[in-house]
Amino acid sequence: MIKLPAAVLLIRYEAPKEPNGSYVVHYNHYDSSNGKVGGEKRSLEVDAIVGADGANSRVAKDMGAGDYEYAIAFQERVKIPDDKMAYYEERAEMYVGDDVSPDFYGWVFPKCDHVAVGTGTVTHKADIKKFQAATRLRAKDKIEGGRIIRVEAHPIPEHPRPKRVAGRVTLVGDAAGYVTKCSGEGIYFAAKSGRMCAEAIVAGSTNGTRMVEESDMRKYLAEFDRLYWPTYKVLDILQKVFYRSNAAREAFVEMCADDYVQKMTFDSYLYKRVVPGPPRCAGRWTRSPCEPPSSCHSPEVLESKLIGVLLVEIRG
Ligand SMILES: Cc1cc2nc3c(=O)[nH]c(=O)nc-3n(C[C@H](O)[C@H](O)[C@H](O)COP(=O)(O)OP(=O)(O)OC[C@H]3O[C@@H](n4cnc5c(N)ncnc54)[C@H](O)[C@@H]3O)c2cc1C
Repeated sequence: MIKLPAAVLLIRYEAPKEPNGSYVVHYNHYDSSNGKVGGEKRSLEVDAIVGADGANSRVAKDMGAGDYEYAIAFQERVKIPDDKMAYYEERAEMYVGDDVSPDFYGWVFPKCDHVAVGTGTVTHKADIKKFQAATRLRAKDKIEGGRIIRVEAHPIPEHPRPKRVAGRVTLVGDAAGYVTKCSGEGIYFAAKSGRMCAEAIVAGSTNGTRMVEESDMRKYLAEFDRLYWPTYKVLDILQKVFYRSNAAREAFVEMCADDYVQKMTFDSYLYKRVVPGPPRCAGRWTRSPCEPPSSCHSPEVLESKLIGVLLVEIRG
């Protein structure tokens, strides 16, 4: 077993010259324990490469994985007074509206001893700071007196790369483009895809006794897509339907007040699957398509609600 140093920066890799040859990984090796500040160029021969190097993946570039649609997320970590922190003890906040994001949402998420206040957008990246100011304003009373301890801005890949495997090289997590639309969740899928890929390699190499092949990497991709494709698809449709205008967002918020929808949403987040709902008579959302439209709702709100109902029906 090769022991890698604590900090390495992959520079590039070279593909093997023969079918079963090794890949050569070139990297900078950083080791502060020997008093050196700069990195030292090194290389390593390996059988397979798993790019788990995030949204700006070097591995993806080298393998020609192609680009993906991405959102930009901006987040400020704010240390707020203890009495204000108590409010967020069992609560995460999500704000919707053109002011905080034209196509996503703003949030205040509790993080151990502080809160993260942020927002994201795919369509209006240049305006991200304006949306962040609006999110801060929305949460004003609750975060007043807070001190910003860290600012983070990063791309969020919301679509799988066109190519996720090339020979014995594959991608996982953000490098592959596994953040879900609508919720912007990526941590679980990064960890899960990493595990599934590792398991496929271990199985394919029969515990290190056989050289893995592209087909082994493809098994991980096929299984990941089989398990999670419906979740990505439903969340993609939800984002397109409900985040497109303030009227549609109102419909979304109203729909989320329903116990039936809450139960299904909670279960879907918890199990990371499109979870079947309770029996059809359990909630009014299952009956609403038959109800006469309310005269106080605009056609856009009604359309959004109907699509939402259909999605709930499909999921149920
Ligand atoms: C502001 C913001 C808020 C978010 N909030 C949430 C949330 O609430 N819930 C959620 O589920 N997801 C959230 N996400 C998304 C989530 O952070 C990512 O989907 C997740 O971190 C992806 O994990 P990853 O391991 O694939 O990539 P990363 O976490 O980006 O890790 C990649 C690693 O690779 C290293 N690396 C990069 N290049 C090289 C190289 N050349 N050589 C060696 N190492 C390299 C990096 O240093 C890093 O350690 C958020 C993202 C942002 C930007």
